Amino acid sequence: MSSPNATVAAPAGIAQILTEAPEAAAARLSGRLAAQAAATDQEGNFPTEEFQWLRAAGLLAAPLARSLGGADLMQPAHTLDLLRTLKHIGRGNLAVGRVYEGHANALMLLQLYGQPDQIGRWAADAREGHLFGVWNTEAQDGVQLEPLENGRYRLLGSKTFGSGAGHLTRPLITGKLPDGGWQMFILPTDEQPTGLDTSFWRPLGMRATASFRVDLTNAEIGPEDLLGQPGDYYHQPGFSGGAIRFAAVQLGAAEAVFDETRRFLRALGRTDDPYQRMRLGELAVLIESGNLWLRGAAEHAARPATDAEATVAYANLMRTAIEDICLKVLPLAERCVGARGLLRPEPFERLHRDLTHYLRQPAPDAAVADAGRFVLQHSEPAHSLWNA
Ligand SMILES: Cc1cc2nc3c(=O)[nH]c(=O)nc-3n(C[C@H](O)[C@H](O)[C@H](O)COP(=O)(O)OP(=O)(O)OC[C@H]3O[C@@H](n4cnc5c(N)ncnc54)[C@H](O)[C@@H]3O)c2cc1C
Repeated sequence: MSSPNATVAAPAGIAQILTEAPEAAAARLSGRLAAQAAATDQEGNFPTEEFQWLRAAGLLAAPLARSLGGADLMQPAHTLDLLRTLKHIGRGNLAVGRVYEGHANALMLLQLYGQPDQIGRWAADAREGHLFGVWNTEAQDGVQLEPLENGRYRLLGSKTFGSGAGHLTRPLITGKLPDGGWQMFILPTDEQPTGLDTSFWRPLGMRATASFRVDLTNAEIGPEDLLGQPGDYYHQPGFSGGAIRFAAVQLGAAEAVFDETRRFLRALGRTDDPYQRMRLGELAVLIESGNLWLRGAAEHAARPATDAEATVAYANLMRTAIEDICLKVLPLAERCVGARGLLRPEPFERLHRDLTHYLRQPAPDAAVADAGRFVLQHSEPAHSLWNA
């Protein structure tokens, strides 16, 4: 169903400043998110109340620099805190984790590429509780920026998979300039109209992300809304290196599957069976391996002057490994809980649908092949391949 062009309501709450580490705040919220996840798991829905909790916990401002009222979460030195924060939110509710990851990504990009006055303005918006996101994916009718005589731009075309559409008030969007340049801009959707095609989003899982098709035709932006130079969005290692963030959110869902499987078996008194024990051991290996990848990715990101190609290759390895871990966790857990466990209100069917869908990220084959190309180009022995 399409809705006519309309503006989005401004946020209802002010983002608080964090009084604890983001990871601790996210870990604390995780149980509450999980308890409500089934209630919002409907097509067309959005976890509005959950984002009020994140706002109140200070997590919406956390990706800002400390000087802007945040917790410096996007600084390379804080990558482990960032990844664990994302994991805990994903553990609570994968849909919330996906939208929060987009918010963090947008705040990272605007702090990297914005002019000082823009950064100040958008950071104030984030502190006021505006929800950001990144809408880059599009189909044949992608977004174009048409220059007007008064120095402003008229927008034409649509984005697909616009997570949080109808709820985000500051989506960071990409579009094509007349010369083909790929330009980022931040659209104040509480002032500029967008049209939503909700019929686009009839997904297997991740229903509550509201990832609709968004028609931007008729919206207008000014030079003050443009972010960075054409092409900045695809700068490496930032673009592909960011895969470690969605992988961390995915691992959160795998942890939820592990925790729920163990709870289920303990509740049924099925903990003495040797085969169940073996499967739980295998699951524990997989989950801990994922956590070690988070550490590895964080160590790599924190290195000074890491070369961009190595960072991208390592991120590609990490996302491939986490995808593989998740794809092994799901059938092991299903065998543990059996058909009875896959009935609602048990959470396994939702977790399975959500994780299966969210594991589908762009170009999975190209990502691992690119890591293969990188290692073939280098002759360092395996033990020092990533230490250079
Ligand atoms: C829940 C959810 C929320 C999302 N939210 C957003 C959002 O807010 N903003 C946004 O911008 N995007 C969003 N996306 C879209 C996401 O970023 C990816 O674009 C999308 O998941 C790509 O998945 P895909 O499986 O279609 O990828 P593809 O890259 O199309 O991969 C599918 C398969 O095709 C293969 N393949 C890739 N390229 C080629 C080729 N040229 N020829 C042949 N085979 C090829 C791949 O290797 C893979 O096997 C969202 C996606 C999901 C699932």
